[in-house]
Amino acid sequence: MNTDNKTINNAEYFIEKEPYYQPSSNEIEIFNTALAENIPVLLKGPTGCGKTRFMEYMSWYHKRPLIAVSCHDDLTTSDLVGRYLIKDSSTVWQDGPLTTAVRNGCICYLDEIVEARKDTTVVIHPLCDDRRILPLEKLGQLLKASPDFCLTMSYNPGYQSAVKDLKPSTRQRFISIDFSYPAEDIESVIVHEESKLDLKQCELLVKLANMTRNLVGNGLEEGASTRLLVHTAKLIYRGFEPNMACKCGIADAITDDDDTKTLLHEMIDTVF
Ligand code: ADP
Repeated sequence: MNTDNKTINNAEYFIEKEPYYQPSSNEIEIFNTALAENIPVLLKGPTGCGKTRFMEYMSWYHKRPLIAVSCHDDLTTSDLVGRYLIKDSSTVWQDGPLTTAVRNGCICYLDEIVEARKDTTVVIHPLCDDRRILPLEKLGQLLKASPDFCLTMSYNPGYQSAVKDLKPSTRQRFISIDFSYPAEDIESVIVHEESKLDLKQCELLVKLANMTRNLVGNGLEEGASTRLLVHTAKLIYRGFEPNMACKCGIADAITDDDDTKTLLHEMIDTVF
C-alpha cells in the first residue's frame, strides 16, 4: 500500500498581487498577533462583508499560501483530512485540503464552518491547542502541524439556529474578529475602489444598503452586502440607470417576497 503523500508546490498557492483590502478597525493587528502566537482565528460576520478578501490580503502580506475550503452540509471529515483512492490497481493516500495545509505550512480558511457536519468540526480540535496535531485515523498517524500552519474559519451569526451553531468546545479555541459592515465612509471608499464609480454615487448606495440592513428581522434575513453594492456600482459605472441597477442588483437579489420587494423598490425611489 502506497502512503506517499503529495506535497504541494507552495508557490502555486501564493497570492502574487497585493489584494485591495480596506481595514475597518484593528483586524490586521489582531490577526498578526494571533498568527505570531499560533492562535486560530474566527472571522464572524454576514456574507459579503470582506472576510475572504481579508484572508487573501493576510496571505499575501505574510507570503504564506492560502488554502480555502467552502464548507457545506455534505462535507465529511474525509473531505478535509483525506482518503485512500484506487489508482492503477493500487491504493494511494490522497491528502485533503486541511492535511495539505497542516503539512505544508499554509493558512487554511474554512469558510462558513457551521455548514459542515458537526462531527467534521471535531477533527480540528487537537489542531487548535498547544498540541497542534491532526489525527490521520485512516493512516494511524498523528501529523504535527508545520510551524507556519494557521487555522482560520468564518461564521455568520446571522444564520444562527439551534441546529447551526458553533459548539462552545469549538468556538472557545479561537480568537474572534468581528466583521460587521464597515462604517459608511469606509464602505463608500471600498465600493468606489472596487467599481471606479464616482464616490458620491457610492455614498448613496451605502445609504441605501443601511436602509435595507434595518429591515433585517422584518421581512429580510440579511440586508444588502458590500459585495452586492460593488456589483450594483459596476452596473451603474457601465451606464445602467442607477434606479434600475439598484432594483435588479440589490432589491431583487436579496428577496423573493413581493411585499418586501415593493418596500425595497420604494426605498430605492427615495434615494435614486
Ligand atoms: P465574505 O465576507 O462573504 O467572504 P468577500 O470577502 O468575498 O465577502 O467580500 C465581497 C466583496 O466585497 C469583495 O470581493 C470586495 O469587492 C468587497 N469588500 C468587502 N469588504 C472589503 C474590504 N474591507 N476591502 C476591500 N474590498 C472589500
